[in-house]
Amino acid sequence: MIPIKKYSQEIVHRSTITNCMSSNKPIYSPNYYKEPGPKLDKESPFESMMERFRFAAEILKLDEGMFEYLANPVKQVIVSIPVVMDNGSIKVFEGYRVIHDNVLGPSKGGIRYSPDVNIDEVKALASWMTWKCAVVNVPFGGAKGGVRCNPKELSIGELERLTRRYTANLLEIFGPDRDIPAPDMNTNEQVMAWIMDTYSMRSQKTETAVVTGKPIILGGSQGRKEATGRGVVTCTLAGLNKIGLMPNKSTVVVQGFGNVGSVSAELMYEQGAKVIAVSDISGGYLNKEGLNIPEMIQYSKENNNSLEGYPDAEKISNDDLLELECDVLIPAAKEDQIGKHNAHKIKAKIISEGANGPVTANADSILDQKGIMVIPDILANAGGVTVSYFEWVQDRQGYFWTEERVNRRLNRMMRSAFDNLYNVSEEYNITLRQAAYVYAINKVATTLKMRGIYA
Ligand code: NAD
Repeated sequence: MIPIKKYSQEIVHRSTITNCMSSNKPIYSPNYYKEPGPKLDKESPFESMMERFRFAAEILKLDEGMFEYLANPVKQVIVSIPVVMDNGSIKVFEGYRVIHDNVLGPSKGGIRYSPDVNIDEVKALASWMTWKCAVVNVPFGGAKGGVRCNPKELSIGELERLTRRYTANLLEIFGPDRDIPAPDMNTNEQVMAWIMDTYSMRSQKTETAVVTGKPIILGGSQGRKEATGRGVVTCTLAGLNKIGLMPNKSTVVVQGFGNVGSVSAELMYEQGAKVIAVSDISGGYLNKEGLNIPEMIQYSKENNNSLEGYPDAEKISNDDLLELECDVLIPAAKEDQIGKHNAHKIKAKIISEGANGPVTANADSILDQKGIMVIPDILANAGGVTVSYFEWVQDRQGYFWTEERVNRRLNRMMRSAFDNLYNVSEEYNITLRQAAYVYAINKVATTLKMRGIYA
């Protein structure tokens, strides 16, 4: 008989940090990144984030205790998830939920299903969420979750049982006032609906506000799907305004043509910008006279979400696309796209980071020296979490907004976050990215100091 792993739940709190150290779990201390070591161009987005975190901590003269507090998560939970498979066998999966911080409010962050997700990756992504929420002044802390599985190998029934048991194991963590999940890689609105239902069954009342990214019929928000791309464009327009360029006189290049990339390209096109190149996994598509973006979106939809074979453009490589002469470059595909190897070849005036971590920390200073304005991911792509916040507000009010109202408020919050960071960057004479970290860390640290450390 196959041994069945017993249901287990391991919780690591900040208060048990010393235990983690003795069990060799990485703990980030102020000196951690000062230790000499080989500097690779290929960086993990988390290493890049920590590099920037340390820089901001130095500007803010953050004391050692506060640094350690903010660099490490509040809580890390690992759960075993036994699932009865369709053939009657039992398979046990491992699931994670990390709450990096809940000083500003309930923690917020997506759940990813992937064969290689692990606790360290989830920890990194959770802290990213803390800074992102702080930057756009959303009253949430940061969290992230994951289940180590290959969703492509699971039937819909297995996926549902896995999701419901993962949720059941985390009932004491999740909650509209505690910790609010959302979709991430390989999870979607159906997965959110199962989480919401499982939580509601256990609390004996419908609790729509326990997750965001739900189907609209179950309390989801209008405008959520387009929110990230819309936020990217709001920030991009604000950036163009600062450098004195009209949108309808600008040229745009977009890497990635999925949710974020296609919406960003379409909204820039609607602003009258000339979108000269876009790409997806099949390669880059260039037309110096300007691409017809609505037509390309339709083409991709009808072609299994691929631009392969699109006729009215010259085919180029993804690497060449990044180095095109243009006013705005929107990397909206994946991390680590602009590094030490190609940063000096970038010709855009503005890089608006639709993706998470598309520019490595090594590339930051090269782009800065070239005078390129980089609108950092924790600002540029925070439109998604902002409309998630609106969804949570609407669920709690039981009153739902029109799409026009959602978009107007999103625009206002993104614009004010951009202006705010722009002022911080001027005040300290630093880049927008550095300003974002300085502002976010200062906000969380100040709130924490006022609340004090509970003993
Ligand atoms: P998606 O899966 O909808 O689209 C990804 C796109 O990138 C696809 O068109 C794919 O073909 C393309 N792509 C993949 N590899 C590529 C490569 N090497 N070169 C060029 N194109 C490539 O994903 P998405 O939701 O649009 O997310 C894109 C990025 O934005 C990710 O980094 C994600 O973490 C980040 N992000 C997304 C959201 C959101 O609300 N969707 C929010 C914040 C951040």
